Amino acid sequence: MDTVYLNGQFIPRNEAVISPDDRGFLFGDSVYEVTRWYGGYFFDLPAHAKRLRRSLTETKISWQDAERIEEISEELIQRNGLGGDCAIVYLQITRGVAPRNHAFPDPPVSPTSYGFAKRHSINTLLCEQGTSLWLTTDPRWNRCDIKSTALLANVMAYQEAHDNGCAEVCFVRDGLVTEGAHSNIFFVKNDTLYTHPESEKILSGITRNNVVALAAENNIPLIEEAVAADMLAYTHESFFCNTTGEIVPVLKIGDQVIGEGRPGPVTQKMQVLFRNLIQSMDPRR
Ligand code: PLP
Repeated sequence: MDTVYLNGQFIPRNEAVISPDDRGFLFGDSVYEVTRWYGGYFFDLPAHAKRLRRSLTETKISWQDAERIEEISEELIQRNGLGGDCAIVYLQITRGVAPRNHAFPDPPVSPTSYGFAKRHSINTLLCEQGTSLWLTTDPRWNRCDIKSTALLANVMAYQEAHDNGCAEVCFVRDGLVTEGAHSNIFFVKNDTLYTHPESEKILSGITRNNVVALAAENNIPLIEEAVAADMLAYTHESFFCNTTGEIVPVLKIGDQVIGEGRPGPVTQKMQVLFRNLIQSMDPRR
């Protein structure tokens, strides 16, 4: 039986109980984070912890254990015997339990905090061979920078992608590619990388930000500028990236084949640099 974290305690999963009046359940009034454990260490845990604290601040959820994110994450790994494995840690904080009312509970109630760890490895075949993206309008709200669990729009679009044999969505807002349903998207045009700038229209991905930093360190030109959906035919490569999948080449978006329809050299270079970065974070090296 795996051990989960619930409201400050580590307990067996089958003993974890959350009220149906929890605002996370009723309203999606809740934020979360997913971090990656590489058999002995986390990938950029400080950045994930910082983003979760920001999501809490932006949503005005005050969680007293916000300073313990790193410690809780590590403990979930150890208590589940995942120390030597590749795994993810999921942590969710809701505004808490109260009779249903749009207004925040007054006086405030304790947030509900829930976390689990589970074994996870990347899909190496997808990373080698690449995939297609499902092109669709971005119907989401204007605070995509908050990592909210209110993911209905992402879930609906992702299911459509999945039903059509695509591994991810390519959201388009006002004619511009924003991001995926659970990833950020990059393009290559004439050896220069392009990705949507940080804004309220995308989640500031930890993988994205590390790719941006890697490009700078390795003198690979990168412009944080959105690519227009009607310019896809003029791009030479594309990839999407996230914590759970790392960097995945994109061969086709909607009906448009990208470049030569196979993983391109810049994408493959970023994959190697990213793999090296993961290894460089191992404190036992
Ligand atoms: N954009 C969205 C909407 C996401 O849900 C995610 C991750 O789940 C990302 C981007 C990528 O973020 P990260 O690299 O931090 O996993």
